[in-house]
Amino acid sequence: MKRLLLAVTFFVIGLNVFAVELPKTEVIKVNGNLYALLGPPELPNKANRGYMVNSTLIIGDKGVILVDTGFSDEIGRHLNGVIKGITDKPVTHVINTHHHGDHTLGNSEFKGAEIISAEKCKELVEKIGYEWIGMVEGMTGLKFPNTRPVPATRVYPEHSHNAVVLQGVKLDLWVPGGSHTPGDMLVYLPDDKALMGGDILVNTITPNFRDGNVKTWITTLGEITRMDLKTIVPGHGPLMQMQDVHAMRQRMLALYAGVEKGYKQGLMDSDIRKTLDLSAWKRLKHFDANMGTNISRTYLEVEAANF
Ligand SMILES: [Zn+2]
Repeated sequence: MKRLLLAVTFFVIGLNVFAVELPKTEVIKVNGNLYALLGPPELPNKANRGYMVNSTLIIGDKGVILVDTGFSDEIGRHLNGVIKGITDKPVTHVINTHHHGDHTLGNSEFKGAEIISAEKCKELVEKIGYEWIGMVEGMTGLKFPNTRPVPATRVYPEHSHNAVVLQGVKLDLWVPGGSHTPGDMLVYLPDDKALMGGDILVNTITPNFRDGNVKTWITTLGEITRMDLKTIVPGHGPLMQMQDVHAMRQRMLALYAGVEKGYKQGLMDSDIRKTLDLSAWKRLKHFDANMGTNISRTYLEVEAANF
């Protein structure tokens, strides 16, 4: 009996050691068929194990659609658990808003689901998906041996609006010109007046320009401001209001104009930085992590446009 107890105790301890503790998902019920599943706002670290993405759950007739799946297989599993607490219906469709690992590397957990993205997103997942696993492992100091990139099986070309019906739900899958990345997809639900922006929209957080095209991004934000929206789910941070989209666009416009002004005066990007008013940016999270890259990226774009 004693031996049995000991064995059971070890088994339970063993389970606890291997159970992965991820930060809680903030579930926001927009209506009975639409839930924003908000991840924590911090960058990947050991405690959050790379969980940082906002996902969206859209409930249809016989199955559900999940927008964005997290940075690893375990985050995908975590999201699946959250979904099971909301609905019994299976995830039949996954939409990736862009190729970055924090939005795509949980795809493998949704076996049998059709994965949908922009054409260029699929190509980039195939090409550099493993680099993103290396990136999250580097940032968290953890290993994710079971994470693997799974590209989309259904894709849409750049500069397209695609009206589709999935599980009885009307969607517009909007692929703008490359904005945050070359292969962005925004998801619009006309019946709910809801938009999932991926990282074209981030709230209270410094956007990341590393793969972006700032000018096209500003144009896309302008198009969003002309939409009639009730719910705006950003890729990171709390739900947005239209005034937040306007503010994000204004910050980016002012940054581009400031860099262009400096460029025309013959300044290098490091000197241009000193001339910029970054007060509106400094209030955002991850300013220190992203802003240097953002200014350099904008400089390269200004240079190319003025060459
Ligand atoms: Zn992201």
